[in-house]
Amino acid sequence: MTANSKVLVVGAGPAGSAAAFYLAQAGIDVLLVDKEQWPRDKVCGDGQMFHSWYIYEEMGIMEEAREAGTMLYGMKSSDVDERLVSFRSDKEYAMGTRRYVIDDIIRRAAVREGARFIENFDVRDLIIRHGKVIGVKAFYKGQMIEEYADLVILANGSHSMEARKLGVFNEDPETLWMGARGYYENVRGLEDLIEFHYPFPDLYPAGYMWVFPEGDDIANVGVFITAEALRKSGMKIEDYFTRLRDETKLGNERLGDARLIGDIKGWRLPSCWKTGQMYSKGCVMIGDAASSIEPFMGEGFFTALSSGRAIGKFLGKQLKEGPLTEELMEYAQQSYAKDMDKFYSVMGGMRNYGVNTPETFTRFTDYALSIPEEERKSFTDVMYQFIKS
Ligand SMILES: Cc1cc2nc3c(=O)[nH]c(=O)nc-3n(C[C@H](O)[C@H](O)[C@H](O)COP(=O)(O)OP(=O)(O)OC[C@H]3O[C@@H](n4cnc5c(N)ncnc54)[C@H](O)[C@@H]3O)c2cc1C
Repeated sequence: MTANSKVLVVGAGPAGSAAAFYLAQAGIDVLLVDKEQWPRDKVCGDGQMFHSWYIYEEMGIMEEAREAGTMLYGMKSSDVDERLVSFRSDKEYAMGTRRYVIDDIIRRAAVREGARFIENFDVRDLIIRHGKVIGVKAFYKGQMIEEYADLVILANGSHSMEARKLGVFNEDPETLWMGARGYYENVRGLEDLIEFHYPFPDLYPAGYMWVFPEGDDIANVGVFITAEALRKSGMKIEDYFTRLRDETKLGNERLGDARLIGDIKGWRLPSCWKTGQMYSKGCVMIGDAASSIEPFMGEGFFTALSSGRAIGKFLGKQLKEGPLTEELMEYAQQSYAKDMDKFYSVMGGMRNYGVNTPETFTRFTDYALSIPEEERKSFTDVMYQFIKS
């Protein structure tokens, strides 16, 4: 492949748009396609942590993102006894922004950088010749069409049938979560802090309920639970919203007078302990399509964005310089995995040793409460100290 190579990116979420941005920046001909009409919504808690923001800075969208979102300055958590602990940071810590807003900001940055974009372009199959992906079949403007490319990047989210078809989809039942969210107005007791609550024994070893403020009395409220724990509970995921409101004092304070706006919507989240195989001949997987969500908090926005950035930057440079060999793809995967696997292992450790049972999380809460409030700045730092102690 040469500088004239064409890259097709399937899916314009944070992973696909970031990859398209960095490829276009390197001068590569990149076509970004999505099956939806944009801006499109995505079921999510809408939380973006501060470590995403250096990528926004690089893309030139930090100010636009800051104006569009609700800035939060730390976290609050509670255990099964509903003891609340705050971790207030000195810095901007997280942002809550509806995904139809923030994803479109990122997508538009890719287009400004030179990526071509087509919406309502529904990829239905891969075109594979002699074991190599050479394009896609898609439903577009009422008919099936074929689109060829030198490289296909699959960034089409957690149900990627195409990634499964290539046999590289890394779904681990131990780290498969279910998540659901609802928007509520007239929510009481909100501060400028993201809230993570661990009230029910059946949420463990890694589930929680969140309340993410998105305005004065509006919040994105949701639940994460491993698919296995949900199955064992015998409940529907929606039941957790009524349980939070009716069975906990804290939930009753937040949701007792609140109104649900729209519907509660759920989706599945494939996460991982470690980066799995991300490529096959002629094709690379990023974001949820590569199961890149971390296994402790279910953070997938940053991992999608950073996998798109890493792969887009690397391939952008390589495609300009010469042919893209399998050795180079392997090297790209290893360089990406080197950084991400540290993140997964720290987060996986917190899940295994900090929240695996109600008792450990209660001990963590004791530990956190023993630290003076002004020194409690970061939930994950305190959790890390707790595990080491
Ligand atoms: C309930 C819930 C709450 C969550 N909360 C958070 C949170 O607060 N913070 C966080 O960091 N993460 C959260 N996540 C995870 C996060 O939403 C995902 O990890 C993230 O969106 C992954 O980005 P992506 O670009 O890989 O995929 P997506 O954002 O899913 O984008 C994939 C894109 O591909 C398109 N597409 C799909 N199929 C095709 C096709 N066949 N042809 C063309 N286009 C296609 C879709 O339309 C979509 O635009 C949550 C997930 C869930 C389910």
